Amino acid sequence: MLRAVAYGVIGIAVVGALAVIPVVASGYEIALGISLLYFTILATAWALFSGPTHYISLATAAFFGIGAYTTAVLGEVLPWPLLMLSAAAIGIVIALFVGLSTLRLSGIYFVIFTFGLAELIRQLVTYYEVNIHRSVGRYIFTGSTQAGIYWQLLGLGVLLAIVGWLITHSRLGLALRVIGEDETVAKHVGIDTTKAKLALFAIASAFMAVTGAIMAPRWTYIDPAISFNPVISFEVVIMALFGGAGKLYGPLLGAVPLVLLFDFLTAKFPNYFSIFLGLTFIVIVYFLPRGVVGLLEQSLARLRSGAGPRPHYMSEGGEALIGRLWSRPKRRAVLKASPDTVPAIEAKHLRKAFGGLVAVDDIGFTIKRGEILGLIGPNGSGKTTVLNLISGALKPDAGELILNGTPITHLPPHRIAQLGVARTFQLVRVLGSLTCVENVIAGLAFRAPPLWGEAAERAARTLLVRVGLGDKTDMPADQLTYIDQKRLELARALALEPDLLLLDEWLAGLNPSELQDGIALVKMLRDEGLTIVIVEHVMDAIRSLCDRCVVMNTGRKIAEGTPATVLADREVVRAYLGDSDA
Ligand code: ADP
Ligand code: MG
Repeated sequence: MLRAVAYGVIGIAVVGALAVIPVVASGYEIALGISLLYFTILATAWALFSGPTHYISLATAAFFGIGAYTTAVLGEVLPWPLLMLSAAAIGIVIALFVGLSTLRLSGIYFVIFTFGLAELIRQLVTYYEVNIHRSVGRYIFTGSTQAGIYWQLLGLGVLLAIVGWLITHSRLGLALRVIGEDETVAKHVGIDTTKAKLALFAIASAFMAVTGAIMAPRWTYIDPAISFNPVISFEVVIMALFGGAGKLYGPLLGAVPLVLLFDFLTAKFPNYFSIFLGLTFIVIVYFLPRGVVGLLEQSLARLRSGAGPRPHYMSEGGEALIGRLWSRPKRRAVLKASPDTVPAIEAKHLRKAFGGLVAVDDIGFTIKRGEILGLIGPNGSGKTTVLNLISGALKPDAGELILNGTPITHLPPHRIAQLGVARTFQLVRVLGSLTCVENVIAGLAFRAPPLWGEAAERAARTLLVRVGLGDKTDMPADQLTYIDQKRLELARALALEPDLLLLDEWLAGLNPSELQDGIALVKMLRDEGLTIVIVEHVMDAIRSLCDRCVVMNTGRKIAEGTPATVLADREVVRAYLGDSDA
């Protein structure tokens, strides 16, 4: 509390001091101040989305230009507040439109698309201006002075800092970090990844558009080449990465020195400017992958070695303001009927083909509540595909899935997770740069109902103790040993308070004593009444854990029954010996 007040006082003092500058400074200094402010805002807005998700967007110039044109076209007819709102609204609409079509892309495809988009919008505006408006550029007479522009940008910067803080301290902020680490995991812990990405992309774009709208009068005359200048997009990326896109204040640390440097370079060596831009980029990528912020954090960590990092991003206030706007999954229905009448899960005639290969062929089974089903069969027989169908990672070509009496066949994975299906992955998937506690909080924060703040942290630590990671709670997940990563994955799955747990070769690769620990853990879960599907090759584990087994071979069910009966079945033995064709 005291800290919050102290930060508040410092913040107000800094903003107050910055606000006085136009009164005392020279014209050149105000112009420089404007550059510093607008690049800081653009880079911070960019990092709000691209920092956590690692989706590198080159569309900054597009949204900036859209904002500038909003002022050019509507500046004289709309009062200032409406003008700003229009710029934000147009930015959001275009961002949602673009986002829906591009956010499915990832990596380099997303980068190229956003760059193409900026060019496309510029061409469209140029076409409109030349052929319909019949002039290449427009004059802007809104009466904004240099000082006015400076103050408007300062206000926008403060608003962005507040919105950014709220987002990074709410579940939405964590959702984006989880998406950046592993989008598949994100879906299976209950995150509506499309919605989270769209929300942030739209918010960031709105800030970029408003920046353009405020800046437009500075040029007096604008044309598409000025307002949609692609260099802005690159500069913004470089500034954000140089400062460090992982922290809210990172882009500020990058924008300030680089604006000053670029200002100097364009004045002294206008012809070589793009070479410097490229060089700066290379230097950042090679020497400062996490930016200035990364350097600062490293030295800070050395200073207070010993004290582990704690989740510092969770705020009840941030969540109360942002979380409600974004999502609040409803508590899932508690099953009223007696356990015997409604199975935990029913699979009917499931089929899934990849091209010509039928990976799952007419598979059906029913699992009672509290039962442990072993799903076994040789490699490539379709076991993982069945788990992917149940958890919603894949959609069946035919067949039906009913969870606790509710059809889930066509639901997206995050909805299925929220309905109580948790899973681990055949190749272990932890959120590497997040600590163990944060990994488990990812499982708590998006389930229905979600857990957040201190309650979430406490629950996460308890779960970590349960799976035997009590002494590694604040260690980054990628520093864990293989077995510990498996334990962490289990803790994250349990965090969802699942009705159905899917374990895909969770015991594979463990040494004999670790295996005994692992089996004991699963037994403990069974004794608590959890319903579990185990895909496993370790026959001892199957015998001691499973109530029943379904045996698959080349996508088909070849046997079903108690472990003892199916493992004695001749067809099963033949399948495992690999001469099923005989
Ligand atoms: P198991 O888990 O029993 O080893 P899988 O379910 O992983 O088997 O795979 C069953 C078959 O489906 C294999 O032949 C595999 O190559 C194929 N397969 C699985 N996933 C895909 C995919 N995403 N695309 C194409 N083929 C796949
Ligand atoms: Mg498999």
